[in-house]
Amino acid sequence: MMKMRKVKSRLATFCRPIINLMSELLGLPSIDYLEAQLQQKTQELEQISAQQRAIYRVISKIRASLDIETIFRTTTKETCRLLGVERVLVYRFSEDWGGQFVGDFEFTETGWDDFRKLSKNTIWNDSYLQEHQGGRYRYNETFVVENIYRAGLSQCHVEILEQFDIRAFATAPIFVKQKLWGILAAYQHSQPHNWQTSEVKFLTQVAAQLGIALQQAEQLAEVEQKAKDLQETGQQQKILFNLISEIRESLDFDTLFKTTAKEVRKALECDRVGLFRFDPDSKYCFGEFVAESVLPVYSSVRLKKVRDNCFGEQYAIYYQQGSTQVLTDIYNADLKDCHIQMLEQFEIKAQIIVPLMLGSTLWGLLCIHQCENPREWTDKEIRFVKQLAAQFSVALEHSNLLAQTRSQAEELSQTLDALQEANLKLENLARIDGLTQIPNRRYFDEFLEQEWRRLVREKQFLSLIMFDVDHFKLYNDFYGHQAGDQCLFKIAQTAQKIVKRPADLLARYGGEEFAVILPNTDKEGTSMVAAEIQSAVKDLGIPHTEVEKQIITISLGVATMMPSIDQTLQELILEADKALYRAKQQGRDCSIHFSIIEQEGSI
Ligand code: GH3
Ligand code: MG
Ligand code: MG
Repeated sequence: MMKMRKVKSRLATFCRPIINLMSELLGLPSIDYLEAQLQQKTQELEQISAQQRAIYRVISKIRASLDIETIFRTTTKETCRLLGVERVLVYRFSEDWGGQFVGDFEFTETGWDDFRKLSKNTIWNDSYLQEHQGGRYRYNETFVVENIYRAGLSQCHVEILEQFDIRAFATAPIFVKQKLWGILAAYQHSQPHNWQTSEVKFLTQVAAQLGIALQQAEQLAEVEQKAKDLQETGQQQKILFNLISEIRESLDFDTLFKTTAKEVRKALECDRVGLFRFDPDSKYCFGEFVAESVLPVYSSVRLKKVRDNCFGEQYAIYYQQGSTQVLTDIYNADLKDCHIQMLEQFEIKAQIIVPLMLGSTLWGLLCIHQCENPREWTDKEIRFVKQLAAQFSVALEHSNLLAQTRSQAEELSQTLDALQEANLKLENLARIDGLTQIPNRRYFDEFLEQEWRRLVREKQFLSLIMFDVDHFKLYNDFYGHQAGDQCLFKIAQTAQKIVKRPADLLARYGGEEFAVILPNTDKEGTSMVAAEIQSAVKDLGIPHTEVEKQIITISLGVATMMPSIDQTLQELILEADKALYRAKQQGRDCSIHFSIIEQEGSI
């Protein structure tokens, strides 16, 4: 085997000059040449394959990262290394086709580390690109310059490049969703650079991949933002929902505001949520913060009085019409000095102010304050605050209505009380005898009837005393009718002092005749009361010179019964009446119990 190889090799060495000579004679490329060509192609292929491997590595790295900063860092670093250039930057177009470098990687060897003029955040407004809205890059073209002094560039272009110490560059456009987004730029500062086609191709490919990565990152950011928005909206909706249900349940506005303000402050991530109420008679020039929720680092505005004459004159009308004031930065809002001073007092840098209406009247303001720094309020936040204010206005209406209803109810109950009192008076009037000021006959009848029925059920005694002034006709005749009236009054009042048990009733039965109803009282008890009344009247010592005793006396007839359904109360009255009659017969100034008549009768 070894032998065979040696022979072949010797043959090749021997034949090569002959074949080369023959090829030359025939006008064909020599073996040496072909070999050299082959070697070069192989090298080129190897290089391409290495570049392809490199580009796949870079692309996979770019794709693996989803946040923009990492994408820029990876892209610029890897591209810088692969191309072996001194700097790679990502440039982003702005709205006006000017732009700024947003990503940067610098690859410097010792001695070339002073190219700080061009880096991340450097703004570069190229008037040509601005005029042509991205110029050649719009058409997805690359721009490759080996040496800025030999590329036929305009003088001003060269000057800009010189400014940034650029000697050579290659740039490729970055598209995000078919829109020219920016440029991937490779720069050589120290010397011109001979850009290989494969290098430019590589730059273009990386730029394209960067576009895709940016699109993905943007989409991710969008999705994240949407999720955040949804979460925020969810939180805001929850607060609104809770507020609405609390409004339904509670009618106390102050409590309602206090419980909601804190949540609102947290949801909006603002520094203060305040409730400002105008003094009703101040024409919107005077008022105070009646409630708030404030971050502890800022001062409380609660109960702080605010006098602001410009407000009443200038702003109130807008709020009355339902307008909202949204201030991003109080110093850039063309506010009057007095207004700014007022806001500064409360450390306010930005705010949303929404009117709180009570019916068609401007009641107060819902104030959202940002104290730390100016703040750009989003539409969603503004909408949320407006919705809140609308709900608070509803709550205000509710509590106002409740207050009105309460005072109406109070008035009504006062009227009712007065009416009841009047009725009672009327009723009393209807029950009381005008002359003697004791219950009249009508009430006597009612009371007796009621007690009779009750005692039928209870099977208890019911007693009745009837008494009549002795010789009263004479008294009248002698002393006059008026004196007679006074006499009746005195007798009634005196008897009333004796009949003081709440269950008992003294009434004027008619003329100079009186009656006492004594429920649950037996014969003995009743006789005692009768005797007491008799002596009390006598003790009055009202002179009556026309009679033997010289004073006013009374005669009493007493009856006691245990009411039953077989009897009627008329029987009781009749018995008492009979007893009274008997007392008169027996010479007056005495008391007779009906039972005595019974006994006498039975004798
Ligand atoms: P007696 O009862 O002792 O038999 O004699 P009397 O004089 O009291 O009898 P009689 O019942 O006949 O008289 C009742 C008198 O009482 C008649 C009336 O003038 C008088 N009288 C009745 N009601 C009033 C009244 O409201 N005021 C005054 N001043 N007198 C009255
Ligand atoms: Mg009489
Ligand atoms: Mg009499």
